[in-house]
Amino acid sequence: MSEPEAIDASLVEIFASIQGEGPEVGRATVFVRLGGCDLRCRWCDSPGTWRPTACCRIEEQAGSARFRERPNPVPIAEIVESAITLAPRSSAWISLTGGEPLLQPGAVAALARALTARGRRVYLETHGLHAEALAGCVESIELVSMDWKLASDVGYGPGIAPLPGRDFHDAHAAFLRVALRARGVYVKVVVTPSTADAEFDRMLETIAGISKTVPLVIQPVTPRGGVSAMPSAERCLALLERAEACLTDVRVIPQTHPIYGVL
Ligand code: SF4
Repeated sequence: MSEPEAIDASLVEIFASIQGEGPEVGRATVFVRLGGCDLRCRWCDSPGTWRPTACCRIEEQAGSARFRERPNPVPIAEIVESAITLAPRSSAWISLTGGEPLLQPGAVAALARALTARGRRVYLETHGLHAEALAGCVESIELVSMDWKLASDVGYGPGIAPLPGRDFHDAHAAFLRVALRARGVYVKVVVTPSTADAEFDRMLETIAGISKTVPLVIQPVTPRGGVSAMPSAERCLALLERAEACLTDVRVIPQTHPIYGVL
């Protein structure tokens, strides 16, 4: 077995939990949460990840909620061992998440390769904008969960460089083309009461032009941060019907982890 590459990562936390969204909802998952994000979504559930932190925390035993703290950065080999300790069965997912994990492309690539080599299933949760970074690791990812951010709900914080402009459409399209090289990929779009038909339809048209069969998860926003209400059931059904006119695999799936009272 080859050793993990000698790369460090800026980490926020590693913990064992249950996948709370998307088509793998309910499955045992170890979350490896990397620090730093270049977006500011109005509904963000993890603003503590927006900037790299001096220290991180690693759960000692799955479900124990006992954590040890250590300073950043953390060697890849230590992250791999910690994640595998929390996920002794190879059926569990190991999710590389954030923040935005692909802001640390070398770390994500090294983690994905090392975890795959140890027989683990690697799940990447990303805002879906950095196609070049994904290209460096996509073959080691079993499932890419890529967000499609609608510009009406995503902004930039102070000091956040405008990425491809405030409209992420073309960057998402480029990302999806690369993500289709992974063994699995789905697109997730968070919808709010202010989501406009025009931007939703533009997304659908572009996804369908790339692949009509890529799964699309419509996720009604969980009210938090700058969002105070979910879209109605009628609105979710209307969006589902619009999407099913273009794509073959569409589901509405809300987040479930707020039910347990965890992030
Ligand atoms: S991309 Fe994710 S971590 Fe970044 S602001 Fe949006 S929801 Fe939060």
